[in-house]
Amino acid sequence: MGCPVARLCYDRGVSSSAAPTDLYIDGRWRPAADGGRFDVIDPATEKRIASVADADAADAIAAVDAAAAAQPTWAAVAPRQRGEILRRAYERMAAGADSLAELIVRENGKPLPEARGEVLYAADFLRWYAEEAVRIDGTFATAPAGTNRMLVLRQPIGVALLITPWNLPAAMITRKIGPALAAGCTVVVKPAEQTPLTALALACVLDEAGVPPGVVNVVTTTQSAKVGSAVLTDARVRKLSFTGSTEVGRRLLEQAARRVVKTSMELGGNAPFIVFADADLDAAVAGAMIAKMRHNGETCTAANRIYIEEPVYDAFLDRFTAAAAALKMGHGLEAGVQLGPLIDADGRDKVQRLVDAAVARGARVLTGGRVPRGPGFFYPPTVLAEVDSDSPILCEEIFGPVAPAIRFRDTDTVIRAANAVDHGLVAYVYTRDLGRGLRVAEALESGMVGLNRGLVSDPAAPFGGVKQSGIGREGGHDGLLEYTESKYIALEF
Ligand code: ADP
Repeated sequence: MGCPVARLCYDRGVSSSAAPTDLYIDGRWRPAADGGRFDVIDPATEKRIASVADADAADAIAAVDAAAAAQPTWAAVAPRQRGEILRRAYERMAAGADSLAELIVRENGKPLPEARGEVLYAADFLRWYAEEAVRIDGTFATAPAGTNRMLVLRQPIGVALLITPWNLPAAMITRKIGPALAAGCTVVVKPAEQTPLTALALACVLDEAGVPPGVVNVVTTTQSAKVGSAVLTDARVRKLSFTGSTEVGRRLLEQAARRVVKTSMELGGNAPFIVFADADLDAAVAGAMIAKMRHNGETCTAANRIYIEEPVYDAFLDRFTAAAAALKMGHGLEAGVQLGPLIDADGRDKVQRLVDAAVARGARVLTGGRVPRGPGFFYPPTVLAEVDSDSPILCEEIFGPVAPAIRFRDTDTVIRAANAVDHGLVAYVYTRDLGRGLRVAEALESGMVGLNRGLVSDPAAPFGGVKQSGIGREGGHDGLLEYTESKYIALEF
């Protein structure tokens, strides 16, 4: 099959110099129709590492043409065969984890071990949905009146537009592609402009694994609004799956509403991290480090507000601050680095603005709090104590390695405070009393809860939020159903 670039990058390892930089449409690599290109920046050095094709609306429609043409054939491929292609993609991705991870570090900035962890996590979505492809079932029942039978089957919804963010440039794509392909859908992927190289490298992996031309198409662009609305107004597109900010998600929902396109929305978070006095403090500190600092704090699942019960407030903060301050910050490819730069200057400046506003309202900086000198969009690990409840840092998603701490005295108050935001993606609770843990978990308005655990993401679990954190679930069997429609056949014989 015609993918010389893919073979090249698989043979040599996917590095920023060998990775493809053109659009991947209908199984072929091609430049943008108008020849446009844009630069990809290493956020640790602020230097250009590649230049990538900049698709416009015409390129996006060419991708929809390819996806629409491939749709019926792909839907007719036996589920087992679809699963086996996904399984091969999983194996190739896992085998190429080191070079893919390097690519992620270069364009996203996260430390290499975390990038490698992301690649394996991302590959696991392909493995999980390889297994789910053969479990798309339906029901057969007698109508209550006894007059006929009711047959319900699940069919692929059709061409899907997948819009993904830069913070997990591999996993946010496979989390959508895995279930879409397993269900028999074809896709147009529009990755974030900050991290297009990982998306194109994934296209290589999928191509090499035997995904037929047109089933997966990747359009990299700086013109996301134009490309997004061109695709969403095309009558052949039946599904939108988006991961990104609530603000952009709201805009896309409005657009999708015009053609009543089915949507899955993974939007912002504002996770509370609640430490009760009876918690295992070492475990709570370790969990908070994961929930707060992983991926530079740039995740929608990041702990955004740390609530600590009065009797252990100082003890927890002493240990947590020591652990945060000890993180080694630097270029993600350097040995031992645990914290990389933020994605860009805007992201870093927003973090500083939130910290400054909290300090102006009386918060104490226990560590960090200032942008360091030199190139790169670095922000140090930062812990703020006694954060005032009206500080904007508690209402906005921080998206950086900053932990605001708040003291609490009783369970009802902390539940009320935890729920008093527009978002509801994930919450974390630490207590040795599992009964209380479950009661609190049930009372929290969030789609997911980590109970004595700082990490909830798992390809086998339904990931998603309530309130303004989103609609629908990704991962698990629920994730597969998002790409199907029920068809009910009333049957008489
Ligand atoms: P973040 O703030 O994390 O960058 P965004 O919501 O801005 O999150 O971006 C998430 C994804 O949505 C990216 O792929 C981005 O290019 C895309 N995007 C941003 N604005 C639009 C838009 N108006 N239409 C379609 N996609 C968009």
